[in-house]
Amino acid sequence: MEMGKKVVVTGVPGVGKTTVINGAMEKLAAEGITYEAVNFGTFMFDVACTKNLVSDRDEMRKLGKDDQKHLQQVAASEIAAMSADANIIIDTHSSISTPAGFLAGLPEWVLRELMPDVIVLVETDPDQILMRRLSDVSRVRDMEGARSIAGHQEFNRAIAAAYAMYTGCTIKIVGNDNHLLEHAIDDLVNVLR
Ligand code: AMP
Ligand code: MG
Repeated sequence: MEMGKKVVVTGVPGVGKTTVINGAMEKLAAEGITYEAVNFGTFMFDVACTKNLVSDRDEMRKLGKDDQKHLQQVAASEIAAMSADANIIIDTHSSISTPAGFLAGLPEWVLRELMPDVIVLVETDPDQILMRRLSDVSRVRDMEGARSIAGHQEFNRAIAAAYAMYTGCTIKIVGNDNHLLEHAIDDLVNVLR
């Protein structure tokens, strides 16, 4: 049996990665190509809830590093178990901005489980991300300026290079600029097809 394609989609909070993923999946479904999308944070959150560690998903990045790494490990092995031969999109983060500094979203033990074919970095202008965060009342976003968001996006590219070295995956940068969502969706479709 042919192995499924594993695609990891990352981007700083508020860049719109979930929107781009949903748009791309819709287009591919019309072509008869099916992907299953899983949200890494949701797998972590389900475990965190049963352990009474947090009451909403935006509290997880404030937990101690060891708690976050444990949740991350459990999520990775659960996702690996369900994705053996399906095409799968994993909605997650290249790095997480925590009070103690950037935490790798895909450390070696997570990559070993997931072994992605490609890691997508969804990016846009930091000012646009700031505006999107301010208008999204459904989430508890960090108070952060555009300079800081720019630094986070830079770090995400840097650490993605390490992920490529470890796995041999490709790194695809997808710009999700204002009014150009269709463009971002088409770029993602091209790596998923
Ligand atoms: P999201 O809904 O994608 O913003 O993810 C919610 C939360 O899940 C993030 O703020 C992180 O705390 C956590 N999370 C998601 N992916 C990872 C990962 N690969 N490693 C560690 N934490 C993650
Ligand atoms: Mg999301």
